Amino acid sequence: MHAMVLQTPGAALRFEPREDPVPGPGEVRIKVGACGVCRTDLHVVDGELPDIAYPIVPGHEVVGRVEALGPAVTSLRIGERVGVPWLGHTCGDCPYCRSGRENLCDRPRFTGYTRDGGFATHLVADARYCFPLGEADDDVAVAPLLCAGLIGWRSLVMAGDGEHLGIFGFGAAGHIIAQVARWQGRSVYAFTRAGDVVAQRLALSLGAAWAGGSEEKPPVPLDAAIIYAPVGSLVPLALQAVRKGGRVVCAGIHMSDIPSFPYRMLWEERRLLSVANLTRGDGTEFFKVAAQACIKTHTSVFPLQEANEVLSKLRTGQITGAAVLQP
Ligand SMILES: [Zn+2]
Ligand SMILES: [Zn+2]
Repeated sequence: MHAMVLQTPGAALRFEPREDPVPGPGEVRIKVGACGVCRTDLHVVDGELPDIAYPIVPGHEVVGRVEALGPAVTSLRIGERVGVPWLGHTCGDCPYCRSGRENLCDRPRFTGYTRDGGFATHLVADARYCFPLGEADDDVAVAPLLCAGLIGWRSLVMAGDGEHLGIFGFGAAGHIIAQVARWQGRSVYAFTRAGDVVAQRLALSLGAAWAGGSEEKPPVPLDAAIIYAPVGSLVPLALQAVRKGGRVVCAGIHMSDIPSFPYRMLWEERRLLSVANLTRGDGTEFFKVAAQACIKTHTSVFPLQEANEVLSKLRTGQITGAAVLQP
């Protein structure tokens, strides 16, 4: 097998040959068909997250086929198409796991962060955390659903059921969740980098009621806003855009510092929340919704070996929709 490997924080990924991994008990080996590129991969490559398991293969939006079963795997079969998400393993025993909040597990493992991910021709995954995907849509179209879709969905649920929904940062997650929100009958207001007409046009083509720069005022007070961009200065802007009692959900794993702001912007029962990881239940729910809502992802496809160039493009906002690598 081959993989794009990160040796040290901030280094370029290197394309390396490796022995084909042997799945252990409960694990499967998967031949990768496509792997989405998420902003979290940038945080891994930049060393912005703690306890990265170097050398590490990033990538946690994996679609592939089961190629080998480890001992005691009965839930998946050879040749089955599966998705491997960010949540790679949980302990099953901590207070969070035992109360249905495995996304907050005290002893988790994460794909492409603390275990090798999908920027590779093959990977090994814990079978219990893989999602059977069926055969609808091709691997490239499905890959962004594995994180942008899933964590996007969790953040949408946390945003509540208000009608007027703001989305700050209209990339991979934004363009998927806008479609879900429209399907639910909500109005979507898309906030992009100032002057990013390409993202604004994509938002309007997906049914957004309004699209503009993140400093602009939406035409109506929002019931909730979700922030997908890792930019702390969006927090006070989003708080200013939501009505009394409204919610602002920060959906990223990492964000630049939030500037100080007057308490009156939070007052009147506005709520500021963050989303961490996903549960397997989120996945089961979301894949059902994605099929019902006929979500269509907008993707740009690149060869696996171009992962470094793709990460640079993502960093500078040159990707519209979602980027996907193919071995
Ligand atoms: Zn992700
Ligand atoms: Zn746990």
